[in-house]
Amino acid sequence: MSSLLPVVVIGAGAAGLMAAGRAAQLGAKVILLEKNKAVGRKLLISGKGRCNVTNNGDIEIFMPNYHGEGRFLYSAFHHFFHDDLINLLNQFGVETKVERGGRVFPVSDKAADVVQGLLKYVRKHGVELRTEEEVLEICLEQDEAKGKGQVKRQIKGVKTTRGLLESQAVIVATGGKSYPATGSTGDGFKWAAALGHTVITPRPALVPLNIKEDWVKQLQGLALKNIEVTLTQGKKVLGKEFGEMLFTHFGVSGPVILTLSGLVVEKEARQGLQLHFNLKPALDEETLDKRLQRDLQKYQRKQLQNALDELLPQRLIPVVISASDIPPDKFVHQITKEERNSLLQILRDLRMTVLGPRSLAEAIVTAGGVSLREVNPGTMESKLIQGLYFAGEVLDIDGLTGGYNLQAAFSTGYLAGEKTALRLL
Ligand SMILES: Cc1cc2nc3c(=O)[nH]c(=O)nc-3n(C[C@H](O)[C@H](O)[C@H](O)COP(=O)(O)OP(=O)(O)OC[C@H]3O[C@@H](n4cnc5c(N)ncnc54)[C@H](O)[C@@H]3O)c2cc1C
Repeated sequence: MSSLLPVVVIGAGAAGLMAAGRAAQLGAKVILLEKNKAVGRKLLISGKGRCNVTNNGDIEIFMPNYHGEGRFLYSAFHHFFHDDLINLLNQFGVETKVERGGRVFPVSDKAADVVQGLLKYVRKHGVELRTEEEVLEICLEQDEAKGKGQVKRQIKGVKTTRGLLESQAVIVATGGKSYPATGSTGDGFKWAAALGHTVITPRPALVPLNIKEDWVKQLQGLALKNIEVTLTQGKKVLGKEFGEMLFTHFGVSGPVILTLSGLVVEKEARQGLQLHFNLKPALDEETLDKRLQRDLQKYQRKQLQNALDELLPQRLIPVVISASDIPPDKFVHQITKEERNSLLQILRDLRMTVLGPRSLAEAIVTAGGVSLREVNPGTMESKLIQGLYFAGEVLDIDGLTGGYNLQAAFSTGYLAGEKTALRLL
């Protein structure tokens, strides 16, 4: 049976573009509604404008990168995984490359090329894209189920800024609630809750951290690579990460911090949370001490503040010296063994006090969202309302950095698109 009514996809981000393209590819009439003037605004800023589209690790590598939600994604990943995504992007003119940690980017390093590739996909298959049309409400039919007197809830369509649009299959791909200027303002959460879905409280994930110490602000803009950061509370080690970080005007950000941030968000009591920076994790204590002695020997006629250039970035030197309680103008040849030891300890354990996470608006991803218990993982259809589908960050799924969030959005979008098309055709 063929239906004249379209599949309606709400939101032209990663999940919505993919869902619309797939449904249309299978022959469905598809209308893709986007409230912004342009599509894919969050995609454009992803991966610092380079868009880390996915990761090339196998499915078992992917799973631990979601917080217990990985199992829900199995079906979607088996249906459409990283190699399928890469093939699709290649087909629409986006060549990809693999970087450290299996991260996949467009060869051009331009997120805009990914958006253009997805636009070509939806256009090729005849999706009707309507920008600057905001969905206000999702409307239901209320059918009396024959014989039993039960109420069977079913999609009737959506109300938009231009009127009612009838449909028996609506895909909500409105994203989360972070970076609201991109259009992700949590509309899908509101509709889902109004329709009876459980919405797990949205909260920040992959979020920068506020730091108490004022000296951090002096380092704004400084990025450190190959460092080890440990998060503790009292004597308890909560987590440890190795890689890159960035100082900001309020505290710290960058991959290692974003990864550790989940542990901070989870904590109800945040007293005593500390970050410990090992600035030279490749060297054990003895080797680092020898290295320090060599540098101090070489620059023994200089003041300490002028003797550490080979060991540390310029801007970090005053901070490290101050933390080790040595006067910066002290001549190196006057430095005692205890002072050198104090310097050594700071290089291996520079501490800062964590005040808490930045706001949800500043988070890379929204944790929480439509409860996965109420969505069929094999179709992305609501278990409560016939014809209602969810895809992307509106779902209670959040992954770590490395391409995991976009792959989840693309895979759930593709699956929802396919199932809606098969439903209506
Ligand atoms: C700075 C930043 C960098 C990131 N980098 C990466 C990365 O490199 N790799 C990675 O895997 N993930 C990254 N992410 C996360 C990733 O971008 C998101 O998880 C992903 O874009 C979510 O896709 P989505 O389609 O579900 O939602 P979105 O991309 O948020 O799209 C939702 C769309 O719905 C539209 N919409 C909302 N409400 C309505 C309405 N009422 N009517 C009509 N339209 C509506 C919005 O305007 C928007 O276009 C990054 C996120 C940020 C903020």
